[in-house]
Amino acid sequence: MRVIEPLYAEILRRNQGETEFHQAVREVLETLDPVLERRPELVDARIVERTCEPERQLIFRVPWSDDSGDIHVNRGFRVEFSSALGPYKGGLRFHPSVNLGIVKFLGFEQIFKNALTGLPIGGGKGGADFDPKGRSDAEIMRFCQSFMTELHRHLGEYTDVPAGDIGVGGREIGYMFGQYKRITNRYESGVLTGKGLGWGGAQARTEATGYGCVLFTAEMLRTRGESLDGQRVAVSGSGNVAIYAIEKAQQLGATVVTCSDSSGYVVDEKGIDLALLKEVKEVRRGRISEYAELRGSHVKFVPGTGLWNVPCDVALPCATQNELHETDALALVRNGVKAVAEGANMPTTPEAVRVFQEAGVAFGPGKAANAGGVATSALEMQQNASRDSWTFAHTEERLAEIMRHIHDSCYTTAERYGTPGNYVVGANIAGFELVADAMLAQGLI
Ligand code: NDP
Repeated sequence: MRVIEPLYAEILRRNQGETEFHQAVREVLETLDPVLERRPELVDARIVERTCEPERQLIFRVPWSDDSGDIHVNRGFRVEFSSALGPYKGGLRFHPSVNLGIVKFLGFEQIFKNALTGLPIGGGKGGADFDPKGRSDAEIMRFCQSFMTELHRHLGEYTDVPAGDIGVGGREIGYMFGQYKRITNRYESGVLTGKGLGWGGAQARTEATGYGCVLFTAEMLRTRGESLDGQRVAVSGSGNVAIYAIEKAQQLGATVVTCSDSSGYVVDEKGIDLALLKEVKEVRRGRISEYAELRGSHVKFVPGTGLWNVPCDVALPCATQNELHETDALALVRNGVKAVAEGANMPTTPEAVRVFQEAGVAFGPGKAANAGGVATSALEMQQNASRDSWTFAHTEERLAEIMRHIHDSCYTTAERYGTPGNYVVGANIAGFELVADAMLAQGLI
């Protein structure tokens, strides 16, 4: 932090109260000293300062009425962080916790994640402090329409291309795409990703983040002469990322023994029944306790937190930020965990990351391990631009290739900078250099 410390102090001063953003920036800056020492031209061009300041931040009112006619007002956000490598690209999150600091942390991470994919996409993120839980379909539609009524003027397939995130899945993307089309009178498929398969969506996009996270884990294990076959896996969450991480882990021969939602977790020693989990979560939109009730008496539902005490070889946090703390990491290490890969964004606290690194656990940070989702979104944009549609097998093969490429570039970058096996350093530096080189070439903008 020699070069970086004064820059970080300035970022704290200018972005007060945005704790998640501070955490995400610090985690990246902590690893950049060696690059900045080797490449003074990046310091002279103020690349770090420019990268930490979003190109544009939008905050807007989202009024909507519920089924009883009562009016609600939410706050919408879109942070267009960096267009150095392509149009702003990143998901929308609908969750009551959403605020500017959270959107900025996610947008900042997205810049480097998108760079790591090797595809031409910039970084952005957005959302609203809207709670979709318990809302009817009609209420969700009215909210999405109101949100897009403002946001549409800032989007475009060459400008800014949102996707889903927590609380935003295929249903919400559909309602937002419909409203965008209605307002603009353009069938601009490439303006949103995560669309339905019949109207411009890509095969394997739904599966991509979870699948990619497991493929990344398999690559980390391969460097240690191991595979996922026969491993016990713990997954947190039971949303989009978690469900498809479970699916791919099972396909590769692992047994997933636990998963969760915000109410608690289940332990299923026979291995999670994926068809039942999908029925509970994707069809009924129910709570995880319903899985335990329907699956049988051998399954335990435990309310609250504590999932990381379940012994496992591989841990995949796939729920939300800061869900895996130091005490959780210590419990995982005590129980012999070999690999941890972040399906969610920043789920592991900095103290917990340190525990894993000191114990020699293979640790894959989110900006590398969960980049499969946005990579497949970029493949969706590619198909939309060429008015083409690829098969599932072809798209999955591209995803696997991209995840291998991300793994290898993190691995070799970490080695090049004298920290072999440190994927945090590898991901941060590899992503940063790609963005920095583009910014240098494009001048002071
Ligand atoms: P979903 O909304 O589909 O699922 C989120 C899951 O996490 C749910 O099980 C939810 O439980 C749980 N969860 C959410 N907030 C909390 C909380 N505060 N405490 C405990 N559990 C919580 O979202 P996704 O699966 O799409 O996203 C999960 C993570 O992955 C996020 O960090 C997201 O940014 C990241 N990500 C997602 C990508 C994607 O393609 N979808 C791409 C890259 C990263 P409950 O239903 O009870 O709220």
